[in-house]
Amino acid sequence: MVAKVLLAEPRGFCAGVEMAIKSLTWMVQVFEPPVYCYHEIVHNAAVVRSFEDAGVVFVDDIDDVPEGKPVMLSAHGSAPEVVQAAGDRAAVMVDAVCPLVTKVHHEVRRMAGQGYDIIYIGHDGHDEAVGAIAEAPDVARLVDPRLGLGGFAARDGAKVALLAQTTLGLYEWQDVLDEAQERFPDLWTARRSDLCYATTNRQTAIQKLAERSDLLLVVGSQNSSNTQALVRVGRNAGIPAYRVDGPEGVDPVWLDDVEVVGVTAGASAPDQRVRSVIDAVAPSDGVELVRVTEEDEYFPLPPQLRKFMQTLQALIEGGVACRTPGVHGPIELDRELSATDALSILGV
Ligand code: SF4
Repeated sequence: MVAKVLLAEPRGFCAGVEMAIKSLTWMVQVFEPPVYCYHEIVHNAAVVRSFEDAGVVFVDDIDDVPEGKPVMLSAHGSAPEVVQAAGDRAAVMVDAVCPLVTKVHHEVRRMAGQGYDIIYIGHDGHDEAVGAIAEAPDVARLVDPRLGLGGFAARDGAKVALLAQTTLGLYEWQDVLDEAQERFPDLWTARRSDLCYATTNRQTAIQKLAERSDLLLVVGSQNSSNTQALVRVGRNAGIPAYRVDGPEGVDPVWLDDVEVVGVTAGASAPDQRVRSVIDAVAPSDGVELVRVTEEDEYFPLPPQLRKFMQTLQALIEGGVACRTPGVHGPIELDRELSATDALSILGV
């Protein structure tokens, strides 16, 4: 029987996911369904299902969005031609890309503009990698962190840049970096790695949990890159680690002869799922929080949505006056609303 659960802090929703979930919640509240979303808004099956129930249609091809319908682009970042096409055909287009992904897009464009060839370390087919490479498809080449540089060749060995997907494992691309630095001594890399703060913090917390746990459970979906990275970090730290979408995924056999279970969640997993996984584990001595750092990052709603909401607000104030002029409206109050609150509006 499990005696204790060690619960990682921080875990679960990051600032980018918070912003994306709140944005799509606003869209389904303001517009008649269907509201369209290009790619899953975040890689979590429970979140996606909730939005589908609320009238969102997820598409993988922007041509599947009927002209004149509202559309949101996912947090993982989209190719420039997709952003353009969405803007051209939608009544309202909101790009919910995470600002930390936007930063990598910007770096791809900047380095390509200066004549560099780009090594982009990421996972083949992942939405974020596809969107970033599309910024400079002629000179950016995807390199799988497990496979190394292989036949990568540069036009000019003194002009090679290395960038990465924000959700990789902390050390799993070190070998590619070492190989690139050896082959290209003038290699350009971002001053700090492209791994985002949320990826780094959640993986650091796992290392802490692993010191005291017999087993690690990571709550998150199969297609969530940062969730999968958490599982790998746990296993690399020497403990059995499993990914579960929710309590139904917990195999009782895993808990045999286990005293302490570490629990965490990928950046797109709702905390309700974490709580129900803990209920399934049923620790006899309760839950201990293991905190490695405080997170207070906040990303404002996308500019297109803010502008649209402000216009709407002004119309309401000037017309039916359903809220008192001068009193804070939803845009100003956004920081106080969490994605968990937003999902509860949808009935999750
Ligand atoms: S995991 Fe990092 S890059 Fe991805 S949405 Fe969250 S904060 Fe942004």
